[in-house]
Amino acid sequence: MNEEYILVAGGAGYIGSHTVKKLKDGGYKVLVVDNLVSGHEWAIKGLQFENADIRDRARLEEIFSKYDISAVMHFAAEIAVPESVQDPLKYYSNNISGTISLLEVVKKFGVKYLIFSSSAAVYGIPESGSVKEDAPVKPVNPYGETKAMVETILRDCGKAYKLNYVCLRYFNAAGADPSGEIGESHNPETHLVPLILEAALDKTPLKIFGTDYSTKDGTCLRDYIHVNDLAEAHILALQYLKDGGKSDIFNLGNSKGFSVKEIIKTVERVTGLTVEASFNPKRDGDPPILIANSEKAKSVLGWEPKYDNLEEIVETAYRWAKSKKS
Ligand code: NAD
Ligand code: UDP
Repeated sequence: MNEEYILVAGGAGYIGSHTVKKLKDGGYKVLVVDNLVSGHEWAIKGLQFENADIRDRARLEEIFSKYDISAVMHFAAEIAVPESVQDPLKYYSNNISGTISLLEVVKKFGVKYLIFSSSAAVYGIPESGSVKEDAPVKPVNPYGETKAMVETILRDCGKAYKLNYVCLRYFNAAGADPSGEIGESHNPETHLVPLILEAALDKTPLKIFGTDYSTKDGTCLRDYIHVNDLAEAHILALQYLKDGGKSDIFNLGNSKGFSVKEIIKTVERVTGLTVEASFNPKRDGDPPILIANSEKAKSVLGWEPKYDNLEEIVETAYRWAKSKKS
């Protein structure tokens, strides 16, 4: 058992809570810091928890004084792309000001390791379907801008202070822990897999955004990665930094693209239910194809996604969606 705490900012959220569970199972001492704007107390039952907003620097200092913190995992953010277009200040305030406040306290208390939840959104509309980490960073919405800006802030802080960091650029997180205890629960939900499951279970139509993309069936291709595989990457990234690895950026995806229509078909196959879909105009800033090249995470971190089968990912998400209804 490690004596020092890993502080998980945003640990009551979807990906944070799965990572916290894995950290705990791995014998780490975990402290969750979350303001519960979109996180849930049920997702962190029995864990050390401080209800705090990371923009509240004084409160953070109090927390960092109270616990012996050796590393920070930073998930706390606003996450909905369409909302970021409608209300960019909400995104710049939380995702940028929040991160700066957190980094100021990290610096003050001499915490050496930080792992940041970045996103494939930093690539904007990439020139090729499968992207590597050295592809141009050209976000096309305020959400993606905030992720790219934090990466830049970290780069500069990493050079100036004794801070070693890893930015993990997640592609499309999906699925739920097979225990059925935790899963995705956003309000409103904007992500495709839970929305299709909701459409299947509630018999409400799903809106497909864009059917004339230049893809195999006209709908967007995305790379869906199981949330527990993302969680595992955090543990590996932390170990990598503790072993002396240099600050770096890694893509996390399954390196396979599935269209919106293929995801609908998979949900129908897995659930035995039918999904009604309506065709709608493209959503602003949606790249037609976004698929990860995750070779770097595999070779440097030793990361190997366990859920490389879409049906299995959907199956875990379905189990969770059903349990939420009961
Ligand atoms: P989420 O909304 O479920 O979790 C975010 C958590 O942060 C919530 O518990 C929320 O209450 C907390 N939070 C937000 N602002 C805070 C603040 N100022 N102070 C304290 N807590 C705060 O989101 P998620 O889907 O778990 O995403 C986690 C991270 O991963 C985010 O940074 C997101 O941008 C990034 N990401 C997510 C995806 C995805 O597919 N879900 C893809 C790429 C990147
Ligand atoms: N999508 C859709 N209908 C929805 C939600 C999403 O057609 O109700 C599409 C969206 O246009 C994108 C893909 O599904 O092509 C994945 O969207 P999501 O919001 O889950 O993740 P993103 O790729 O935007 O991060």
